[in-house]
Amino acid sequence: MILGSHVNFGSEQLLGCVKQALSYGANTFMFYTGAPQNTVRKSLDKEKNEEAKKLMQENGIELEKIICHAPYIINLANNTSEEKWQFSISFLKQELNRCEELGIKYIVVHPGSSVGIERKEALQNISDALNQIITENGPMILLETMAGKGTECGSTLEEIKTILNQVKSKNIGVCLDTCHLNDSGIEMTHFDDYLDSFDKEIGLEKIHCIHINDSKNEKNSHKDRHENIGYGTIGFEALIKIINNDRLKDVPKILETPYIERLYPPYKFEIESIKNQKFNEHLKEDIIEFYK
Ligand code: FE
Ligand code: FE
Ligand code: ZN
Repeated sequence: MILGSHVNFGSEQLLGCVKQALSYGANTFMFYTGAPQNTVRKSLDKEKNEEAKKLMQENGIELEKIICHAPYIINLANNTSEEKWQFSISFLKQELNRCEELGIKYIVVHPGSSVGIERKEALQNISDALNQIITENGPMILLETMAGKGTECGSTLEEIKTILNQVKSKNIGVCLDTCHLNDSGIEMTHFDDYLDSFDKEIGLEKIHCIHINDSKNEKNSHKDRHENIGYGTIGFEALIKIINNDRLKDVPKILETPYIERLYPPYKFEIESIKNQKFNEHLKEDIIEFYK
């Protein structure tokens, strides 16, 4: 099982990420190359990156399975302001370059929100932007399946398919998010049905990452609020089944569940309970006790 969580790309950059991942008992991880909500980026530290790769090798973390996530303020869907749209495109290009420099193969991108424009046009904008960004041999962009909050694009298979079909390159894939799927109306206790339709419409080989989150809200709520594993509406059993689904065996699974009391990362304990397939009903208490 390739299982990890979101980690912070702090002052130690990739090296800090690896250290955090190891402290959680993870064998992969996902990071933003700076704050997820802004586009301020520090230059990359070559020495730290080399150290990071050495530490990864020593601990069996494969560079090819590591995931980067683009900041979510990027919006490729709306081009009402040509200037803002171009900024999103050029920023994403820079992020791809940073991934390439780090040796990272995959970068997750939110398709974007249509805001005031026609849906069809918004989907075309996303594809047009991607056609300007994607390079054949560079990192692969993974479009994330969204909850459909506000005017978010990419909350249905049809929309993801439309975007992909309009992209010329084959160097593009998909990242599933269990919370988003639930909130977009997918029945997560019948996940194989979803995989069947995904396979029919798009092809399972396009899935290169899956975000594992429980949801604070009911199916079809279009809310997008993540919950700790087993504490939400999807539930422990359904998530364990998804994580262990044979058809997604080689796909990296990334936790993006909320910190406890906004301070303590839950990942070490969630990874443990996923591996044991045993729900921890004292998750919050155990985490607070451990980090306090
Ligand atoms: Fe995301
Ligand atoms: Fe996600
Ligand atoms: Zn989310």
